[in-house]
Amino acid sequence: MSRPAPIEDSPEHAWQRAREILLARVGVEAFQAGVESLRFAGMESDLLRLLAPTTTTASWMALHHPGMLEDAMRSVGKPCRISVVVAGRAQGELFPGEGPTGKRRPIRFGALVPRYTFATFVVGASNQFANAACKAVAAQPGHHYNPLFLYGGVGLGKTHLANAIGHATIEANSDARVAYVSAEAFMTQLITALRRDRMDEFKSTFRKIDVLIVDDVQFLANRERTQEEFFHTFNALHEAHRQIILTSDTVPKDIPGLEERLRNRFEWGLIADLQPPDMETRVAILEKKAEIDGLDLPREVAIHLASKIDSNVRELEGCLTRLSAFASLSKTAITVDFARQVLHELLRDRSTVSIDTIQRVICEFYDVRLNDLLSKKRTRNISFPRQIGMYLSRKLTGESFPAIGGRFGGRDHSTVIHANNTIERRLKDDQRLRSSIDELQRLVNTKP
Ligand code: ADP
Ligand code: MG
Repeated sequence: MSRPAPIEDSPEHAWQRAREILLARVGVEAFQAGVESLRFAGMESDLLRLLAPTTTTASWMALHHPGMLEDAMRSVGKPCRISVVVAGRAQGELFPGEGPTGKRRPIRFGALVPRYTFATFVVGASNQFANAACKAVAAQPGHHYNPLFLYGGVGLGKTHLANAIGHATIEANSDARVAYVSAEAFMTQLITALRRDRMDEFKSTFRKIDVLIVDDVQFLANRERTQEEFFHTFNALHEAHRQIILTSDTVPKDIPGLEERLRNRFEWGLIADLQPPDMETRVAILEKKAEIDGLDLPREVAIHLASKIDSNVRELEGCLTRLSAFASLSKTAITVDFARQVLHELLRDRSTVSIDTIQRVICEFYDVRLNDLLSKKRTRNISFPRQIGMYLSRKLTGESFPAIGGRFGGRDHSTVIHANNTIERRLKDDQRLRSSIDELQRLVNTKP
């Protein structure tokens, strides 16, 4: 297949396109870890120079996806060698390249996901309100609903809608400064700025933003310093009538460890929820996605999938991806029978275990009370079963660390990560623990 000729031939443009390819190839998480913050710094003969904010970012891609940067440049028709250096002065800058002239440069921090637009978002009863609110905000950022607070369960479209506002804003005004950051990225930036004694710069940079999207603010839980700085950023932007968009898995009042004054701010504007989509919407989402991917998906198959998977859109999409991969590998048309077969395997693999079940089993096995398991108590006879509970929750339910922390008495995600690592480490040379865990898994799987 011949690749399309580059629209514009500058090396910087080639790098931008390579970034898009990398996003598609390595996925959002790896992209954020290793690519997003790399900045174009120049190209000489066949050497592309990139700047990374930290040594970790500089080496991340080479470590985890060797050759990917080079491959991506080759794919866009600019084969080259690549040198990634850790930025000196430019470290942590949100809008690098802005010279002393003060000219507005449309460089954006935190790439929006290209396909998360309003056009690709399917509207149904479950998300109608949130969608309308987002469109109103995109039409006149900073005027209505500030902040806009989107909340809802995993995979229901918060990140998608928040990105869509960003895209629409830029479309209407290509000068707009749209920043999309996860709450964790905000925190990381803040910590870096503090460590390098560059808080003034951090502040002034964030306060230049026209539309600030902070994804998953539940991660701010218990981060006092981050919350404090975010509070000031929030106020500065709000006073200047800049738009703020926040997403979270719960309403502000249910985010544990969120300062009162910040919670209060979060509730100033409009709070819109995303609910799991109904049957019709699920079918429509599948058909839209099939259309985007150029996949021939018969209506009956869409209905079949939508009737089997009713929890969240991410799973629905995952299932369609799997189905289309299988179909193309086995050169089979996608029929209901074929879908049933593939789904059967998929659903069998998928865990149906809930955190509740795990907690019940743990309590019986270690003879502790549920109240204690979820309490702040740190005595070993309670904290150890709790760690095992977190470990098993991660292993058997695939829930996120923050979600698991939330279910274990509103703990921080770092606590869950710690528990998980501790148990994994001990499992290596603790035969007794291994058999306890085996037994626990058996109990969990047979519990009604
Ligand atoms: P969240 O941030 O709420 O966890 P995402 O925004 O990441 O969820 O959505 C998960 C996936 O489902 C994304 O690929 C997104 O494009 C897709 N998705 C969610 N809701 C819709 C919708 N209404 N129409 C089309 N795609 C959707
Ligand atoms: Mg999200």
